Amino acid sequence: MTAKTAGAGFVWDPAVASHVYREDHPLKPKRLVAVKETLERLGAFARPGAKLLAPRAATRREIERIHEPDYVEAVMRASADPDDDYTRWGLDPDKDTPPFRGMHEVSLLTTGGSLVAMEEVLAGRARVAVNYSGGLHHAMARRAHGFCIYNDPAIVCATLADRGMKVAYVDIDAHHGDGVQAAFYDTDQVLNISLHESGETLFPGTGFASERGRGKGAGFSINVALPGYTDDAAYMRAFDAVVPPLVERYRPDVLVTQQGIDPHFTDPLTHLQISTRTREHAVRWFMRSPYPWVAMGGGGYSMDAVRRTWALEFLIMLDAPIPEELHDADPPMWTGPERRAIDEITDHAVRDALAAAW
Ligand SMILES: [Zn+2]
Repeated sequence: MTAKTAGAGFVWDPAVASHVYREDHPLKPKRLVAVKETLERLGAFARPGAKLLAPRAATRREIERIHEPDYVEAVMRASADPDDDYTRWGLDPDKDTPPFRGMHEVSLLTTGGSLVAMEEVLAGRARVAVNYSGGLHHAMARRAHGFCIYNDPAIVCATLADRGMKVAYVDIDAHHGDGVQAAFYDTDQVLNISLHESGETLFPGTGFASERGRGKGAGFSINVALPGYTDDAAYMRAFDAVVPPLVERYRPDVLVTQQGIDPHFTDPLTHLQISTRTREHAVRWFMRSPYPWVAMGGGGYSMDAVRRTWALEFLIMLDAPIPEELHDADPPMWTGPERRAIDEITDHAVRDALAAAW
């Protein structure tokens, strides 16, 4: 396995972009169509090293590496008959994660897309492969949670760990990756780093530095709980202080990332204020790192921010130039006393996160 293999895989099938959670639901899988069309218009898939990868359905066995069989069976029933009562499994028609027809089948496909990305990278056929329909980091072993049904990042990390590999998982969604943290809380085989808006102001209410793992896993769950209104300057400093040094100290065999773009300043669900500039900074570091890299999407509820940012990220993966049209023209930037306040709280979050590390 060589980390410096060129090329980037992009998992795509219209089937992962056509399901509807509920008409008024903020997670709109059709957002991926706009990402794909933007990349097509920019000629990305005609560039050397670009490769479209078809997802496959994950197997029951792969799903059950993380999820309990009775939960999987409940999702299968909900998929066929969404009108029954599945609230004990976290599926509620009026809440975050409603049951919907076909949910099991499409979730097998979004999970299988992440496994295809993983297989592509492990086989050395690509430097990186990304599944923007994946990154469903909140799903728990026996409960749907926060728009997430099957936890594909946890399934990928577990599959790699089962093959004896050390995995660094870096989650830059605005929300704490609680489902992935729960899956690996007791092990040192997955280093789990999550940078997110503090649970004091955002769902799921967890992800404090004190949640550092337990037993063999003590010090391998790293949480950077950022204050609301964290902007590019503060976020980039936090990223640089935590991610490169800890990942390099850990020396993983594989890097797995969750790249939800709901920390964007236009996102309607969160209070972080980053722009495409921060995302370019983070993704360029992943790209420069020597590790085989499996990437996933995640949250992102501003259609235009999703379209531009994920297109920009894939161009970085291809080592292609980035047209200015993909960048935010005028991102927010604090000055004066607000600047000092944000920097101070961010630095505090960084210190706590580093102090928790093994
Ligand atoms: Zn999120």
